[in-house]
Order: sequence, then structure tokens, then C-alpha cells
Amino acid sequence: MKWALIGASTIARDYVMNAIRAQAGHEVHSVLSGSPARGAEYAKAEGIPHTAADLAAALSDPEVGAVYISTTNEKHHAQAMAAIGAGKHVLCEKPLAMTVGEAAEMVHAAQRAGIVFGTNHHLRCSGSHRAIRDLIADGRIGRVLSMRVFHAVHLPQHLQGWRINDASAGGGVIPDITVHDADVARFILGEDPVRVTAQMAASGMGEGVEDSAMSVWTMPSGAMVMAHESFTHPFAGSGLEVHGTEGSIFARGVMTQRPVGDVELVTREGREVVPFSDHDLYTQGLADFAAAIRGEGTPAATGWDGVKSLAVAHAVRAAAAQGRALNVDYGGAQ
Ligand code: NDP
Repeated sequence: MKWALIGASTIARDYVMNAIRAQAGHEVHSVLSGSPARGAEYAKAEGIPHTAADLAAALSDPEVGAVYISTTNEKHHAQAMAAIGAGKHVLCEKPLAMTVGEAAEMVHAAQRAGIVFGTNHHLRCSGSHRAIRDLIADGRIGRVLSMRVFHAVHLPQHLQGWRINDASAGGGVIPDITVHDADVARFILGEDPVRVTAQMAASGMGEGVEDSAMSVWTMPSGAMVMAHESFTHPFAGSGLEVHGTEGSIFARGVMTQRPVGDVELVTREGREVVPFSDHDLYTQGLADFAAAIRGEGTPAATGWDGVKSLAVAHAVRAAAAQGRALNVDYGGAQ
């Protein structure tokens, strides 16, 4: 399977290219950049054999079977629709699009075309998150009462570009990190938030977009989720807690791109350390995507998972902007 990278991005360079190359029979064939000079430089540095002059050239290459889209957020929809139209499998970065309607359009088009479409929500691929989900599914904490996600980090200097100053490119912490937290809550709890209340702020980094958000989500079971995302917290550390009638799960340092952190289960019997696999998150995501191409299962996060995480993020931003609780509009997501 030969892949075209749509976007000469940091995430492709630092994580996803390695994950593609780790799959037997998969290779990175070409890269598309909006700047031919930058694309050539990127291809040379990363050992990618071909560069594409434009999207049409990347997609008309008959050798290419799959694309990974990791451009800035406002480009995802048009690029994905073109790739689907060309019959390529699509792994698209989060947020899938600028609107829930556009994201749903992408997923419907992929279904009609019969190609595999996945969302690159890496956290649900981690050993820690999968272990937490299994504890809950096995009833170890009883009925879930609440979940707390703390994902206030410090955006590294080299990423302090469009994310903090360009709303038209999809900047802001809500499209960047709240989407991940929405996916984590949905994955771990197995249900979709119905109603949210939220506040957002620019606390030192955001220029015209929010760099911090706090929100509370109500789940269909009645469980409540509290989420905190920020770009401006150098020392907060990340993690999540899930509290149930029979126990609590404490996970520290697990809202990250690396297979690190620790997970502890507390019940009447006492405290126990929960072991988990330390496999690479992105390699697992690509393995699941490659299996889906072979007809075995689905991507770790499907297109509809991407639509739903975006829908929660949009509800959070709208609730914060309007200062009132709002129902999440999933736009007909299945
Ligand atoms: P980058 O800013 O690194 O890349 C986005 C675009 O910016 C690239 O496509 C590239 O355009 C341009 N660009 C990048 N570096 C330079 C540079 N040095 N000079 C000029 N232009 C540059 O973004 P990220 O990799 O951080 O994010 C890309 C996408 O991936 C986003 O949608 C983001 O939300 C998502 N993401 C997902 C993560 C995950 O874990 N799932 C983690 C990080 C990001 P061109 O291609 O035209 O050269």
C-alpha cells in the first residue's frame, strides 16, 4: 500500500510517517506541500521518493492507494472529498472539518465510495486508555458517576503558529484538544455527551482564538464529565479520573502522544497499579487502519467518531460563546 502525505506537517514527520512505515507492505510514496520548494526539502529530509505538484497530481497517481491528510484544519474537507472521489483510502487528522455538516459529508461520501475512512484520534490507541476502558467494561468501578479530564498543557514554541492566531485555519484549543477529550470520553465510557455547558478564555497565548476551555458534559446514563483544555499551562500535567459506585480510576500523564503515564485503581480492597501495554499509539492506529483496508475490522476511530468528537467540540465552543447550556448536535452521525 503506497501512501501520499497530503500536507508536509509536523505530526506526519514526528509520528505518522514512522507508523505507516512500521506496517508490513506499506510505504510513504509521496508528499504534497503548498510550497514546491518546501515539499522537496521535506521529501529529501524524510526519504520520501516523490513530491506532488498539486492535489490533483497526488491523487491521479495510480500507485497511491491511501492518503494521510494533516494540513491545517480548513483544508481537510476539500482534500478528503477529492481523495474519496479518486477512490483512495483516507486517514484524516482531527478535527475532520470546520463544521459538523462538512465532516458528515466526508463520511457519507466515503461510505458511498466503499473506501476506508478513519480519524487520527491517537489517544484511544494507547495501552493506558484501553486498559481504563476495559476496567470499566468489566465492572471494576461499578456504575460510572463522573469523569474528569485534565488536558491543560503548554503548546511548544514550534507549534505556536496558526493554532493560536488563525481562526480561519481552525485555530483554538477547542478544535485542537477538546476534540481529543471528547473522543476519549466517548471511547472510555461508551456513550455520547448529550448536553454541555462551558467557558473559554484567552489566557496569554491565544490571539483572536481561545487558548483555554473548561466544560461539563452530561452523558445519557446521567454520568457527568468535566474537561479542561489549555495551551498555557507549563506545569499542570495531564490525566483523567473516572469515579464509580465501586471504585475510582486515577490516570496521570496519559493525555499525551507517547505510551507513558500510570494508572491506579482504588476500590474497597485498596489501591492497585494497573498494568498497560507501552506500544506506540500511532503505530497501533495505523495497524488498525491497515487491517481495515484488508477487510478486517474498522479503523481505531472511524469517520463517525471524528464527526462526533467535532460535534462535542462545537457544542462546547457555542455554549461558551452564548453563556448557556446546549444540546450536542451530531448532525445525523450514526
Ligand atoms: P503544522 O503546522 O506542522 O503543519 C500544517 C501545515 O503547515 C502543513 O501542511 C504545512 O503546509 C505548513 N507548515 C508546517 N511547517 C511549516 C514550516 N516550517 N514552514 C511553512 N509551512 C509549514 O501542523 P501540525 O502537524 O501540528 O498539525 C497538522 C494537523 O494535524 C492539524 O489538523 C492538527 O489538528 C492535527 N494534529 C493531530 C495530532 C494527533 O495526535 N492526532 C497531533 C498534532 C496535530 P504545506 O503542507 O503546504 O507545506
